[in-house]
Amino acid sequence: MATHLINSVQRHTSMRMAAPDTSNSWRTQAIDAFIHGKHDNLAALRVDLAARVAALTGQPIAPEAIAVTRASKIARVVVDGVRFQLQNGELSILRTCVECGLTTHASPPISSRADLGYALAGWQPRGNCCTPDEDEDWALW
Ligand SMILES: [Zn+2]
Repeated sequence: MATHLINSVQRHTSMRMAAPDTSNSWRTQAIDAFIHGKHDNLAALRVDLAARVAALTGQPIAPEAIAVTRASKIARVVVDGVRFQLQNGELSILRTCVECGLTTHASPPISSRADLGYALAGWQPRGNCCTPDEDEDWALW
C-alpha cells in the first residue's frame, strides 16, 4: 500500500518535472544568466590578469593568488612585492607616493615590458599630500 503510494508520487513528480514550465522559463534563464555571468566575469578577470602578468614577468600566476573585488571588478595580485591591478581592462601597478609613502597610486596603463619598466622606475607617483595642485584623479587615492 505504502509502496504503491510512493511509486505513484514519484511518477507524478517526474511527469511534472518533464513538462516544460513556459511561464517561468524566461525568468529562470535571466536569473541564471545573471548568476553565471557574474561568476564568469570574475573568473575571466582572474584569467586575464594572470595571463598579462605572466606574459610581462615570466612568473606563473596562480589563480588563487589573485584577489578580486566583486563590486568594483578589480583584480589584484602581488608578484615579488609588486602589486599588479586590472581594472576596466587596463593593467597597472600600485605604488605609494614617492615623497611620503603614505598614499597609493595606480600607474599609467601597462601593455608592454617597457610600460612596466616605466611604471617601476620612471613614473614618480605623488599624492595630494605632496602635490596639492595635482589633478582630481589623485584625490581618489
Ligand atoms: Zn605624499
